[in-house]
Amino acid sequence: MDLSPACTEGISTDGCIIKSDRAQRKSKVSRDVEMDIEFLYKAVPQLAKVFRIIDKIGEGTFSSVYLGEAQMRDGRREMFALKHLIPTSHPTRIAAELQCLTVAGGSENVMGVTYCFRKEDHVVIVMPYMEHQAIVDIIGSLTFEEVRLYIYHLLKALRHIHQFGIIHRDIKPNNFLYNRNGKMYALVDFGLAQGTVDTQIELLKDLTGLRKVPRPVFGEKNLNSCTPAPSTTKQAAIKTQLVKPVKTEDPANRRYSSATRVALPVRTQSGSQKPQRTVQQGLTCNCYLTDRVCNICMSRKQQVAPRAGTPGFRAPEVLTKCPNQGTAIDMWSAGVILLSLLSGRYPFFKASDDLIALTQIMTIRGSRETIQAAKSFGKAVVCSRELPQQDLRTLCETLRGQRPSPDDEVTPLPGASRDSTTTRRQKIQDDTPTHRPTEGTLKQHQEHSGSKETSTRLAKQISETDCKVEEDERGWDRVPDEAYDLLDRLLDLNPVTRITAAQALQHPLFKDL
Ligand code: ADP
Ligand code: MG
Ligand code: ZN
Repeated sequence: MDLSPACTEGISTDGCIIKSDRAQRKSKVSRDVEMDIEFLYKAVPQLAKVFRIIDKIGEGTFSSVYLGEAQMRDGRREMFALKHLIPTSHPTRIAAELQCLTVAGGSENVMGVTYCFRKEDHVVIVMPYMEHQAIVDIIGSLTFEEVRLYIYHLLKALRHIHQFGIIHRDIKPNNFLYNRNGKMYALVDFGLAQGTVDTQIELLKDLTGLRKVPRPVFGEKNLNSCTPAPSTTKQAAIKTQLVKPVKTEDPANRRYSSATRVALPVRTQSGSQKPQRTVQQGLTCNCYLTDRVCNICMSRKQQVAPRAGTPGFRAPEVLTKCPNQGTAIDMWSAGVILLSLLSGRYPFFKASDDLIALTQIMTIRGSRETIQAAKSFGKAVVCSRELPQQDLRTLCETLRGQRPSPDDEVTPLPGASRDSTTTRRQKIQDDTPTHRPTEGTLKQHQEHSGSKETSTRLAKQISETDCKVEEDERGWDRVPDEAYDLLDRLLDLNPVTRITAAQALQHPLFKDL
């Protein structure tokens, strides 16, 4: 970082100059943010020598991100994003995030890192600031061409990090910054990243040890283990639960499904198969393949598998706690983003837990198909009702308002049923039983999921999509089949056959790029 000592002028800790800065900020920044900035200056005093911290631009579970300005040696003023990690973050975790940025960042649409400050347990990662728009704010006005380019650039970032053996694990629009005017893109947030077996990021290897601790994945609440949510939502039409495995102490043994009473081979990312092992019949209980969960099953230990990320973007193998997870999980998330952009709905899947998320996937991709795929990675999914796979073009065009939807109702989303009195249940091998209500129709789903503002925005989107002329201009009336073919390949339920980032970039959809 090319910073001159002179740039401390106006932001030094020695009093009065800072005050004038504060006075300037006051009008724009809330009192809370001002206090946070104050706190950050105190926690990491070196920052004041370099930056004038202007605003808070992001706040998550693991960090707060600030906008800072620095004066460079040549006199230019430059903007930086300062990511202040929560002081309780594991040191290896922090170092791994930093190493992902330093090794893989700075090119191919992956955010780079400029500098890092630390004082005691406070760490601030300094990155070039990239102005960006939130997808939720612009989804209603995006052209098809913008969507095509957005996905292309996301795939480039994914190919790049996957080449280094980095699994991002939290691919979603908030972590892929998009500057619409400047056509710039940047993948951020390696806070949940993990390494593939042959990762080139040394510190990601060290994280493998951290993961062995039998507790929820780093810093994340395990939704499967919590008590059922208050039943404020409508009675479920379909419930999803994960059938407990036979009781074993070795998590590896749990990869073998007891569903068919014959063990299934586990497929890893590379497609290799482990030798078959048979599960003793006597170890399975009576509730097996029923819609109840017996006490034996209730007392079984949970399977420990990585499941960091955001429920609506999690791949089926993550949702069913498959222990072998690879870069394919990021490809699934990219597929969910594409589905969202093609249908004009964001978020597309909004699930409060993994089981609801899996039900939502089944509604779009089909229950039989999901069961089949899960079987291939050693999980038995049981579904009491067959949910047919939906045609992706029809689905997206219906949601865009380009096709009339049956009975003038929006296509039912995951867990949806018009017969709310019937309780249907599904079971999936290998997880904690929970009986949680799922949402009704997509309409309800959207209403629950968002504020009034969101509903207004949605209403606006719908009226926009109704306008034929505007559709023509934005290219939504001539989305090529290739777009839906790529979507289908990204949302491949089976991680082994799911398209890779390198393959996706070769897809006919991008032939001119
Ligand atoms: P978290 O782990 O808390 O999600 P992120 O790294 O995803 O942290 O950053 C949170 C938010 O801060 C991002 O969604 C983005 O809006 C903003 N942000 C992060 N890095 C940058 C950057 N380099 N430039 C501009 N904004 C950024
Ligand atoms: Mg983030
Ligand atoms: Zn049982």
